[in-house]
Amino acid sequence: MDIERIYLDQSVEEKPLSQKILQRLEGIPVEIVKDRDRFIESMQSIPLTLGKRKLWLTHFKGPFVKRCPGTDQNYLCCNYWVINQQTNCPLDCTYCVLQSYLTFPLITIYVNMEQLGGEIDSLLQKEPNRLFRIGTGELTDSLALNPFTEFNQELIQCASTKNFILEFKTKTDFVGHLPPLTGKKNVVVSWSLNADTVIREEEFKTAPLEARLEAAERAISKGYRVGFHFDPIIETAEWERKYGETIDKLSETFSENDILWLSIGSLRYPPALKNVVDIRFPHSRVTTGEMVRGLDGKMRYLRPIRTEMYQKIYSRIRKHWKNVFVYFCMENETVWKEVTGFAPEDNNHLDYLFHENLFRRFPDLQLSEPKRRDYATN
Ligand code: SF4
Repeated sequence: MDIERIYLDQSVEEKPLSQKILQRLEGIPVEIVKDRDRFIESMQSIPLTLGKRKLWLTHFKGPFVKRCPGTDQNYLCCNYWVINQQTNCPLDCTYCVLQSYLTFPLITIYVNMEQLGGEIDSLLQKEPNRLFRIGTGELTDSLALNPFTEFNQELIQCASTKNFILEFKTKTDFVGHLPPLTGKKNVVVSWSLNADTVIREEEFKTAPLEARLEAAERAISKGYRVGFHFDPIIETAEWERKYGETIDKLSETFSENDILWLSIGSLRYPPALKNVVDIRFPHSRVTTGEMVRGLDGKMRYLRPIRTEMYQKIYSRIRKHWKNVFVYFCMENETVWKEVTGFAPEDNNHLDYLFHENLFRRFPDLQLSEPKRRDYATN
């Protein structure tokens, strides 16, 4: 990890998580910040590359648990929920939307997480028959800083007594610090996978493909379920062969019973990201494809290109695994139908289908029987 300096908001100096992080990162200079607002203002315009080497420990005033922002009505979204306890990421993917989305460049950890358990409880209580999927990898990589924060350990403990699926999404191989799961196996560690050339050229500071797969094996041996996200698929000269080889490799190593779900999504980004990529990564190829502005304002490959890539990847997955749950991230009904011959009726139906698949395939999760009427509202 490249953290060179820690800034500690004086108001959270005594928080247990602050103390734990300072202990773990002993030796890195720490600066106590007395005037939070002035500090934020002074750091706002530093380059992101510099910001990724600075850690800001502070508090967050609003709720930590939120609905995943991918809810544009023109695309099917899976009703995922996210916990934003950390923002920004020490890894450096060229296509990372956080580069244009976040307004503050430092890696920020909110250490006042005492209310988190209560927030999760009230979400689950509102719709007790619904299976919530909640993840920490929306505004950061779920595991990149975890060896120092051990934040996920507390979440795992929380999940062990509740009825939801907790997901950690990562491009690292940091699973050594995760505790063995002894009770309920409702925690999934999932990896974003890409062709090895894309990993080398577009996903800086992440673990190589082999290391991600080995980490997934280690996670399974500790009792975790795993998931894989072919997202973002990037069109390169060899995409078909490369993704095909990766899927074949997965099938040799993992049984369908280990895999909770697989997702497929193609590269998409807000137009403002292009300038950032051009400046930070002049050799990147992510903004050079044949792209069009989608109904949500994001750039994405033309529909025939997306459909062709999805069809090839989907059929390769199905060649090996007939029952694993496969979904598309932020795609429209037409594309779903063109690729699978089927499309969920709406976001709630897609949400229900997750529950139905997991209920059928994983009896040990002891899920309630899914009922379509429990998935009637967003
Ligand atoms: S791992 Fe995710 S959050 Fe981190 S830089 Fe890459 S895309 Fe962004």
